Amino acid sequence: MLRKLLFLLPLLALLLTACGDDTPITPAPAPEPGGGDEPSGGQTEWVTVTPRPDEWDGQRRAGITYQLLVYSFADSDGDGTGDLPGLTARLDYLDRMGVSALWLSPIHPAMSYHGYDVTDYTAVNPAFGSMADFDRLIQEAHARGIKVYLDFVLNHTGKDHPWFLEAKADADSPYRQYYTFSRDPEADIAAGRVPMIATEGAAGYQAGEWFNVTGTASEVSGRFRFRLDWSDPKAPTVTVDEWDGPADDPSGIDPGLEPRYLYYGDALCLPFRPLGEGRYELIVDFASQWGFLIRTSTTSWDGGTKWGAPSASDKLTLGQPFTLDSGTAADILFADQALWKYHSAFRTDWFADLNYGPATQCDRSPAYRAVADAAGGWIQRGADGFRLDAVKHIYHNAATDENPTFLRTFYDDMNARYHAAGHADSDIYMVGEVLSEHGEVAPYYAGLPALFEFSFWYRLEYAINNGMGRYFAKDIMGYRDEYQAVRPDYIAATKLTNHDEDRAASLLSASADKCRLAAAVLLTASGTPYIYYGEELGVTGTKQQGDENVRQPMPWTDVDTQEADPHSLLSAYRTLIELRNTYPALATGRMERHPVYNDANATYNQLSAWYMADDASGQRLLVLHNFGPSATDLPLTDAVQRPLAALGTVQQSTASDGTTQLRLGGYASVVYLLE
Ligand code: MG
Repeated sequence: MLRKLLFLLPLLALLLTACGDDTPITPAPAPEPGGGDEPSGGQTEWVTVTPRPDEWDGQRRAGITYQLLVYSFADSDGDGTGDLPGLTARLDYLDRMGVSALWLSPIHPAMSYHGYDVTDYTAVNPAFGSMADFDRLIQEAHARGIKVYLDFVLNHTGKDHPWFLEAKADADSPYRQYYTFSRDPEADIAAGRVPMIATEGAAGYQAGEWFNVTGTASEVSGRFRFRLDWSDPKAPTVTVDEWDGPADDPSGIDPGLEPRYLYYGDALCLPFRPLGEGRYELIVDFASQWGFLIRTSTTSWDGGTKWGAPSASDKLTLGQPFTLDSGTAADILFADQALWKYHSAFRTDWFADLNYGPATQCDRSPAYRAVADAAGGWIQRGADGFRLDAVKHIYHNAATDENPTFLRTFYDDMNARYHAAGHADSDIYMVGEVLSEHGEVAPYYAGLPALFEFSFWYRLEYAINNGMGRYFAKDIMGYRDEYQAVRPDYIAATKLTNHDEDRAASLLSASADKCRLAAAVLLTASGTPYIYYGEELGVTGTKQQGDENVRQPMPWTDVDTQEADPHSLLSAYRTLIELRNTYPALATGRMERHPVYNDANATYNQLSAWYMADDASGQRLLVLHNFGPSATDLPLTDAVQRPLAALGTVQQSTASDGTTQLRLGGYASVVYLLE
């Protein structure tokens, strides 16, 4: 509904018509604080600023990447799931946008729709097509000058990956080394015996979660009598003995009004026989690899219905009362019973973290070799790079350089394979996801050439929604200084939102003007921008009702409507992308502080201004954005040659003394070429 409304709101015209007037605009002196509303010096009238950009020569200088979810982008066979042939059929749309590369969501066989729980790194998910479909996508994309980056999930596999299934089932399996298993994680971590969590000491136990491995613990079996003493409800006990007599028939037991159940083995939940005064008894032929629990409900796990051991290391000895705990309620293991556990940084038993050993020797680990060979296979097939998922979770100690060390090893390895695959003159592209603010991102530039800059959107969203423009450029330039200190040729992968965030249009109140401003800022600031599919149409969606709401199918009918409308958001995106592809100062240039309109100038709170400079050509552009809802007037203090872009209402007036006043409507943007 909101999205429909957005399209109905007329976008203010993008003024692209060529204008015959080549008269240079004379710069005005710097304004005094508190500059007035009216142009000074007996101004006459406001004239709409008409952009006169150079014609684009077709070179994709800006390196803009389009992020798409294969399952949601384009469906070729009508099964309701997007696929590779569907994407290939829509390449012309992406070509017309002027993007340089595509980031595909994981294409491998996986357990869930989103694909971040891979079960085979070497294959194409059959729901998305065949290997031949992949080859054709690569061929068709490359024919249009568009690169293809694959999402590579190397922190963990899905729990159904054959490596993990085999590792779980057999303690002697070679795949045991691919993951992190421990019988006593707390003790092993404290002693430094878990290489992936070896540098934090005992505190490393907090890194992620450990899950029981069924099928490999030493099984306890035999006929046992379980006796409960609940006479002290705060500290009930269980006592277990071996038993020679007959076992109970659980179907004949009336559990009474305050039932207790024995939960063990393959989800067996059998009632105790109440003996009165808080005592219960049950004799069973017991067999379990994970021990047992006592429950007070067969249907609920909540509110103290589950009673177990105070900790995993408290174990039961036959014949001795064992005090039950309803807080931690760990599985009750028998003394000497060993239980394997595996590690997941994401605290879900859905994922199993891969074990790359000590970071400095990661490439010697079998898991690394398997994953790297799989990635190398995709390079052989024509993939141009990778987006690496969750890279701050591979090793867990943020105070060390373990992750950058691992990433540099992987990057150098992939780059060598890329060169060997026929790309002698260029390096492989690789961007990492460190879902953090700039300060935490910066150290990762020691390992990778490109990283997503989440801070860019955080600052931009705040600035737009608060009409506060003057700090934006200073913040962004500050982050760039941090990155440069680590890697002089860093690539800040700027973006609005992605598949893990509420969509930009929703966070901008589904306002067409705000969406256009966000696009204008993204595409006129330094960085290497990403566009999340549908963002160029103003698609809305929030995660509140589930992640699927920010991952909906691409609305192709809206594309048709917006393609036909020169005032649509899509048309604004195309104009801005073309501009960025035309001017090196925008494409690969450096942001510079504006001497007048900057963080120190409180008179123009809603204004954000900077220069974009290209050292090689000497090209310099002036970029001005109005982050506020109302128009703002300002003296044009730079010697400009001509306007290159104007979005929203942009007017100027020339006073009789030759100075120029600029009027930027609410959420309007303008770019000038400087002399
Ligand atoms: Mg399909």
